[in-house]
Amino acid sequence: MAQRTIKNTTTQAQHEWPENVFIQGGERGVVIGGPGGAYQTSFFEAFPQDPRSGFMRGEGKTLAEAEDSAWKQYQVWVNCDGTGQGHGPYERRQYTNGAGFCTRCGTWMSRVFKPLPEDPDRKPTLLDRVFADQDPEAINEALTLMANAADLPQAPSGE
Ligand SMILES: [Zn+2]
Repeated sequence: MAQRTIKNTTTQAQHEWPENVFIQGGERGVVIGGPGGAYQTSFFEAFPQDPRSGFMRGEGKTLAEAEDSAWKQYQVWVNCDGTGQGHGPYERRQYTNGAGFCTRCGTWMSRVFKPLPEDPDRKPTLLDRVFADQDPEAINEALTLMANAADLPQAPSGE
């Protein structure tokens, strides 16, 4: 199988991702709202395409480390589906938009439930405030975070 370039980078993927899995990554991602606040990380994201959805995201000190983490998650996803029954049962956890998690492999998947009506008491996230409300304070907060990205703590290494 031909090696693929990781979208948004100039790096070749080290694992043999099938063609129907979209892969992208970055050396300097900023994660907002981690348990210890914002941090900077390399990340690698994989999105298997229809008919089965899924999302794997690996983080690490390097892009290679992040890809390894996503690859492990992908293997779990593939093997869960290998029983012939597909994934599931699912649970929604905090998602109301129809997404949920396979309770067997733990993968986040879109379109596995009917979306629920919006909870009017939900606290908007920073991203909601930036993209939905275009709240100037939120935009300022986000821009400051990006500008200071290099000063953010690094994500802990995977495993
Ligand atoms: Zn599963």
